[in-house]
Order: sequence, then structure tokens, then C-alpha cells
Amino acid sequence: MIDLINVVKDFKNGDVSVRALQEINLHIDQGEFVAIMGPSGSGKSTLMNILGLLDIVSEGEYILNDNNIKKMSEAQFAILRNKEIGFVFQSFNLLPKLTAFRNVELPLVYSGLSKKERRERVIAALERVGLADRMDHKPNQLSGGQSQRVAIARALVTNPSFLLGDEPTGALDSKTGEMIMDLFCQLHEEGRTVILVTHDEHVASYADRVIRILDGKILSDELNLKVDTRSLSDDSRSMIEEEV
Ligand code: ATP
Ligand code: MG
Repeated sequence: MIDLINVVKDFKNGDVSVRALQEINLHIDQGEFVAIMGPSGSGKSTLMNILGLLDIVSEGEYILNDNNIKKMSEAQFAILRNKEIGFVFQSFNLLPKLTAFRNVELPLVYSGLSKKERRERVIAALERVGLADRMDHKPNQLSGGQSQRVAIARALVTNPSFLLGDEPTGALDSKTGEMIMDLFCQLHEEGRTVILVTHDEHVASYADRVIRILDGKILSDELNLKVDTRSLSDDSRSMIEEEV
């Protein structure tokens, strides 16, 4: 469970201060599938970096699964991030000199697991994204979609409950993006909480809830209306689909 209470984030560069988030209040339950939308510069990445424990709030509270982030030591913060959060980026952020296997293994390096246990976990994560046969490939030997699947395997390898993506389909063509979204949907159905930033309404339509932000504030927060029309007659289906 995620709770942001009156969260403010300021960036200070010398004398100049930018308020990237202002008075954000947000509750996300375990198991939700949330899309975050908004124009460039509205604060989406800032919000995601806070949710993903890559950055800290300037004011307000962040409670993640009963942990008040402000009250944690740096070591506790790092352990919590490793345990609870899988993060995927627009540009994949794979290390170019490492194979897919080694990239996925990175979050386990200080886990205390044996080499054999790490290998089993890495192979399971690569199998989960359908890329076990590419484990010895380096990033420049992978397509964009495959690179993002390796990045998703790396995010999954610690078995986190939260899977976060900042424009995870932004660098992909639409067909590859749909494959990645199908994978996020499956991972959500398996019980993970999924939170994605996107510019694309079609990508956002996969989510159950869409939060729109503007100038660092939540503009709207709505459930996505999804109607299962498969069991209806052709006439009723087309009527409903036109409405939606
Ligand atoms: P985009 O869609 O272009 O990725 P975004 O919604 O993710 O945009 P953010 O990156 O969160 O936007 O930026 C929000 C605001 O905070 C912007 O005005 C940006 O210039 C500012 N900002 C973000 N990071 C920093 C930083 N490290 N230092 C100073 N200002 C920053
Ligand atoms: Mg951004």
C-alpha cells in the first residue's frame, strides 16, 4: 500500500528553486494497475522517482507498506527498495558491457544468495519474459522490445510487489509497445501492483485507474471504465462500445 500525504518536491539549483510537486495526496492499494499521465514537465517522473524510492520528498510523508520513509535509515531505505520495488525506464537502462544474464543478476549481487540460487532466479525471470534463450546476448544484440523485456526481468528478479515504469513503451513502436503492455497486464494479474507513466492514451487504457497531473498537482483521478462486451448481442455491444 502506498500513501502520499501532502507531498511537496522542490529542486534547488543555486538560488533557483523549482516546485515539481505541490501538496500531492495519493493512496494506491496493493494490486492496483495505475497509469499516470500529464504533459512534459508536469512532474510525472518526479512522482515516480519518489514512489520508487529513487528520490525523497521535500515535505510531507510517504508511507510504503506501513514504513514511514522519512523515519528510515539509508540502509533500511535501500533494503526496502530492493525488496518492494521493480523499476523500468523508457531507455531500458541496461549496462551495455554486461550480458542479459548479468544485467538481470545485478539487483541480487548483494542479496546474500548463493551463485546457484542467483542463477536459478535470473533464469526464472528471463523465462518469465520469454527471453531465456537470449541470456548471453549483450544489449546491442537485442531489439528494443527484447531490451525492455530484459529490463522487466531485472525489475522482477527480486520478486517485488510494486512494478513501476516511467514511459516503458515510449521508445518502442506501437506493436512492440503492445507486447510490453500485455506483459505488464499478465504481471498485474499475477498480483503485482503496477504503476506506469505514459503519454499515450492507448497505453493508459490498459490500466484500471488513470491519474492526470498538471503543474505538479493531481488534476483528476478516475477509474477506467472497462466493459466486457463479449457475451452481449452485436447491437448492444456496438451501442456500449460507442458510448465508451
Ligand atoms: P516528461 O514528460 O518530459 O518526462 P515529467 O512530467 O516527467 O516530464 P519531471 O521530470 O518530473 O516532468 O519534471 C518536473 C519539473 O521538475 C520540471 O519543471 C523539471 O524541469 C523539474 N526538474 C526535474 N528534475 C529536476 C532536477 N533534478 N533539478 C531541477 N529541476 C528538475
Ligand atoms: Mg518524465
